[in-house]
Amino acid sequence: MIHESLFQRACKVLPGGVNSPVRAFNGVGGTPVYVDSGKGPMIHTCDGRTLLDFCCSWGAMILGHAHDEVVAAITAQAAKGTTFGINTEGEVRLAEQLCARVPGAERIRLVNSGTEAVMTALRIARGVTGRRRIIKFDGCYHGHTDCMLVSAGSGLLTGGVLSSLGVSRHVADDIFVAPYNDVAAVNEIIRTYGHEVAAIIVEPVAGNMGLVSPEPHFLEKLRHMADRCGALLIMDEVIDGFRFALSSYSKLAGIKPDLITLGKVIGGGLPLAAVGGQSVFMDQLAPIGKIYQAGTLSGNPLAVAAGLKTLEILEREDPYPRMAALGDALSERVNTFTREQGIPIRCAQYKGVFTLFATPDPVRNLADAKRSDTALYARLFHAMLDRGYYLPPSQFEIGFISAAHTEEQVMGFAQALTDACGDILVR
Ligand SMILES: *Cc1c(COP(=O)(O)O)cnc(C)c1O
Repeated sequence: MIHESLFQRACKVLPGGVNSPVRAFNGVGGTPVYVDSGKGPMIHTCDGRTLLDFCCSWGAMILGHAHDEVVAAITAQAAKGTTFGINTEGEVRLAEQLCARVPGAERIRLVNSGTEAVMTALRIARGVTGRRRIIKFDGCYHGHTDCMLVSAGSGLLTGGVLSSLGVSRHVADDIFVAPYNDVAAVNEIIRTYGHEVAAIIVEPVAGNMGLVSPEPHFLEKLRHMADRCGALLIMDEVIDGFRFALSSYSKLAGIKPDLITLGKVIGGGLPLAAVGGQSVFMDQLAPIGKIYQAGTLSGNPLAVAAGLKTLEILEREDPYPRMAALGDALSERVNTFTREQGIPIRCAQYKGVFTLFATPDPVRNLADAKRSDTALYARLFHAMLDRGYYLPPSQFEIGFISAAHTEEQVMGFAQALTDACGDILVR
């Protein structure tokens, strides 16, 4: 098989054979898939298989792969030049779009990855407050900048523990890690350390421990608590932004963040992300202010062209209600089946993003997510791959329905899922 020989070659030149860990299939076993091309919701593998894709580059491909108009926009820009290191009109237009659509984003700085956006947001928060501590939530992912590679330690008030080697242990001292959806925990941290907290950072709909939605008032209370202690509220919407509506999730929730990070969708499948926020904070960035940030490829013309075209198509076609309805139909169908059959799998779903949790119990934080049977998820993943469906290769990630997925495809997927659940439990 071609993918096996490719992976063998890859392992000789790329650590673990990959450029990003989840692609190695460590969470599900087996040899990872190699993609040759994609069109719409389908990907074609190097082995000549066609798969219905529910990874969609972790949500970046909201319009599906190789959308004709996006390809044309990228091609046209490529012919005009791919990077100058000098200002272009496109970056102004993209920033205008984002500022107009995202409450709280009075200014935007474009960067190249979500990691960079978060790194910059945290620097701004620390720069404007003159404080060093950050409150984050266990199971939320904010990219791989040093201080975000910290997870919950033994005690709430003792700071987090490093989740990677190579990070100074001093970094962990600055980070408090609370369970997601746990207002009391945040309150407890703030009671003792509130005057030292620069920011509370949260994924408003958490997508990196599997899908976990915020409970009623959770985000609203974070807004109040941040205000009370003088910290900034950072909404990390690298996944959520422009995924559920042509705006931020914060807007849907009626909460105005101080800073917001965007990525994935807004780059139209090219490397682009953004940090936005109120001008009083954002204007502290260089060249006006004393908080430094820069980038050779920031506001890259190709990525900006792809992002602008993607936003234009999203506005014209408004696929959001359809994606949400398909998500509802999927989770309804799967959950009815698994409940009736006593199968310990539940589909958590919100507006077309979903996780098949291998546990029958509700999941409201990382501890709950970790109770799922990851070996069962791995069997489900491979049973679905055999049937021609590409799910996220880890229990702790989310699947994406794109605007290109049809009702027939999603319902076929639901049927295949119920078949696969049945088979797995008989075996
Ligand atoms: C993907 C993601 C990031 C990191 O973005 P990269 O572009 O992979 O660096 C940060 N935060 C959230 C919520 C994400 O989902």
